[in-house]
Parts: sequence; C-alpha cells; structure tokens
Amino acid sequence: MKTQKEDVLKDLLIFDAHCDTVHDLIDPSVDFRKRKQGHVDLEKIRKGGLKAQIFALYVNPVYAPYRSIKKALLLYQTLEKKVFSLGYGMKVTSTFEMKSALKENKLACWLSLEGGHIIENSLEILEFFNSLGIRSMTLTHSKNTDWADSSGDSPQWDGLNALGKKIVARMEELHMVIDVSHVSDKTVEAVLDATSAPFMASHSNARALCNIPRNLPDDLIKEIAERNGYIGVNFFPVFLEKTIFDQVSKNVEKYEHQHQEILQRKGDDPDFVSKAESNLFQKYVEGSDSIDVNAVIDHIVHIADVGGIDCVGLGSDFDGINSTPSDLTDVSCYPALVEGLTLRGYNTKEIQKIMGLNLYHFLKQFDP
Ligand SMILES: [Zn+2]
Repeated sequence: MKTQKEDVLKDLLIFDAHCDTVHDLIDPSVDFRKRKQGHVDLEKIRKGGLKAQIFALYVNPVYAPYRSIKKALLLYQTLEKKVFSLGYGMKVTSTFEMKSALKENKLACWLSLEGGHIIENSLEILEFFNSLGIRSMTLTHSKNTDWADSSGDSPQWDGLNALGKKIVARMEELHMVIDVSHVSDKTVEAVLDATSAPFMASHSNARALCNIPRNLPDDLIKEIAERNGYIGVNFFPVFLEKTIFDQVSKNVEKYEHQHQEILQRKGDDPDFVSKAESNLFQKYVEGSDSIDVNAVIDHIVHIADVGGIDCVGLGSDFDGINSTPSDLTDVSCYPALVEGLTLRGYNTKEIQKIMGLNLYHFLKQFDP
C-alpha cells in the first residue's frame, strides 16, 4: 500500500525561489553533478525531486560601486558553462519555457540578481541584465544601495529615493520581478506606493515568529499577498528562531574585530574580503541551537494564516546559509518537508501550492 506521502510526492512540482549555488560553482574545483559539500547538486536535486529553481547571481556588496557587473557576469558565465551547456538544466524566462524544460526532464532554471548594487545605478545596465534573461532582482543585499534602504543598514533614503523609484518603475515596465527580501519595511512600503505590479520576497520569514528586521511584519505580508505577490520561506535557523539569532549575534560581536581588520587591510580586494567573510560567517553559527523542519513549517503556517494559502512557498536560501534545520540539510531533503506539511494537516492540493505551484502562478503573471 502506498503511503499518503508517496501519493503527494508523485509528480509534485517542487520549485524554490532562492539559492546561492552559483556563488559556489565559480570555484573551478566544484562540479554541479556531485559536490562533496554544499546544498545543491544534480544528485541531490534528483533525490529530493526539485524540478525548478530560481538561481541568484549573488554579488557581495563589497564589490560596489565599480566591480559588481564583472562579478555578476562571471556568475552568469559559470551557470552557462557548468549547468546549461552540459544539459543539466535549462535557462528559462517564462512559464512556457519552464514547461518545456520540465517536459524534457530538465531542471528549469530561472535567474535573478541578488543586490541592486549590481546595476551600478544604471537603468541601461538593468535593461542589459533583463535582456540576458534575468527575470528578477532583490533591491538590496545587507547594505543600502545608493537608492534603496536595506533591513541590515541604517535608514538613508526613507525606503527609496528618486532613483530608486525610477528603477522599480522600469522593472515594472520590463516585467521584471521586484524582490523585496533584504530591504527595510520602509522600502517595501515605498515599492507598494511606487508600483502596481505584484512582487515577491523570495527568501523572507515572518517577524511575528522571529522578531528581526530581516523578516516581514504581518501588515506587509498581507499587502504583498493582496497584490498577488509571493513569499518564499527561508530555511536559515537564524531567521527562523530568535534565540538562535541572538546566539549568532553574540558570535558576530566576538569576531567583529577580525572582520574590521580584514576590511582595513584588504578593503580594496573584494574577492579576498568576500571569501574571508564567508569563512567568518561559518564561525558565527558555531554552537547555536539545533531546530528541525517544524520551524520552517511554523513560518509557512503563519504566512498562510495572514496572507492566505496562495502567497506562500519555498525560498530555501540553500548554499547561501551555513546552517540548516537538522532534517532539512540540503535539497535532497524536500520529502521531509512534504511529510511535515502532511502531518500538520495540509491536504495534497495545499501542499502542491506551497511546494511550487504558488511560485509558478506568481511568475505566470510576468509571462510576455
Ligand atoms: Zn539573500
């Protein structure tokens, strides 16, 4: 007899809104087919049943103001060389193309820019990336850009300044998805005022359950949902559980002198700083509490309660996070999430929505 879990898993569209895998792939020794470390590779994708993924081209803000474009293009070329040209995945820019990829049994790969600093304050560069088939952009990463405020920085522009408003308006005209993960509440409000298109928070959690600026308050969850938007739940324990955030914050303080020293000594070498920051980042999570998949499900349940079952889905942040729930350690573990949702009482149709259909329907609104 088949279990309910097997029934749900059969033909399930698992579609995740955010991973930073390309950032790892740029290392020549890393093979997309099978990796010794990391959360996402072809073997794990097949095991976990992932069908489609938005791959972020993440550029550390230390590359701003003048070296981000080159880095983003190198990331793009890495995907081309290590994934698309070898037939491991297919670049897609619409739900039509996504359907063809799925029909050919290929991973459907959407592309996004992580960090508005990448476009170097230029609408033309934004248009250029759009012409490469990059369909979305987070307005900031953890630092303010010259035109948008980040949740990780001090308020500077009251959300968006005049250039920021022009950029989101141009994104709307280009049918590019505005991604508000990482930005401040004021910036989300400014996007609501400056545009009328649906938009997403590709990898953000609920502040009501983990009270940190990086997560979304209920009123903004509601507004994003009312605009047919999408919220992908992030698997990073630090954004799921406030006690873990506090533990990690203490470590950040502990290592801050090392961080400052790196910036002072090597501030003009973004490749060095970016790597050194990744190593430090690993130390920040050492010794923090362990949680399981239920912490992720708690955020899914809350966002669905506030915004409705159609607005919520996955935004794993795999390969961008250096700790995970204990039973959701990489992309091969999606069946554990499905099982957890089943145990919470969600029916097959609701699980299909959460695991991928909501993201598919959200993106369908941007088809040409
Ligand atoms: Zn991110």
